[in-house]
Amino acid sequence: MELDPEKHASLLQARELLERSQRVAVFSGSGLSAESGLATFRNPDPDALWSRFDPTELASVGAFEAHPERVIDWYNWRRSVLAGVRPNAAHLALAAQPRMIQITQNVDNLLEQAGVAPQQVYHLHGSILHDRCHNPACEYRELVQLEKPSPLRACPRCGARLRPAVVWFGEILPEQTWYQAQRLCMTLDCLLVVGTSASVYPAASLITLARRHGSRIIVVDPNPRETDGAADIHLVGMAGEILPSLLDGLDLASTP
Ligand SMILES: [Zn+2]
Repeated sequence: MELDPEKHASLLQARELLERSQRVAVFSGSGLSAESGLATFRNPDPDALWSRFDPTELASVGAFEAHPERVIDWYNWRRSVLAGVRPNAAHLALAAQPRMIQITQNVDNLLEQAGVAPQQVYHLHGSILHDRCHNPACEYRELVQLEKPSPLRACPRCGARLRPAVVWFGEILPEQTWYQAQRLCMTLDCLLVVGTSASVYPAASLITLARRHGSRIIVVDPNPRETDGAADIHLVGMAGEILPSLLDGLDLASTP
């Protein structure tokens, strides 16, 4: 890859920072998976009922309670898209650092597909690969077949509706995972922020938390404006283009 001199200098500076950091973690968002073909949740099938709605109007408790079939159809379409995509160069570069914790806002499993051990991935926004019971008192959960997801159906344990095990707008993050992520961010020397506009709260507050506890921040993002204030070093570009050169040959860990 040919980098201009300024970009090359930033890349070397970031590598040096990573090399002298004993505790490094990654915080990723949709930009990480975009290059795999999950860039957009928009509909290629204009006949589908849900294609008339903004995704933000579908990913909510209110939408599910008012129109459960529409919401499930939309998630099942997203699942069928996910069934056909593969990890990209950025996922693979991260997976080559098996001792590093991956905090992610992504609900896909492309990091795991790339080879990251499941216990090394903190999914702040849940998993589209699972359904769970919508009844908060019931803990039923099951794995979904991505190629052939089931239509709207009742929980076999309590009869309430099953729903994707993702965090919807207005819902709180999974308590244990959020706690672990916060605790980790308070111990880091460097947080590598990949493909997130850092605008979704409370997840984005992790960057502020890490910084307040002494961590340096490296941001990998094609858009320089969105995360400027938070970054010590900003590597401008797509994750799949930057991460392989940034991480090649390093041995990073979240705990020394
Ligand atoms: Zn149930």
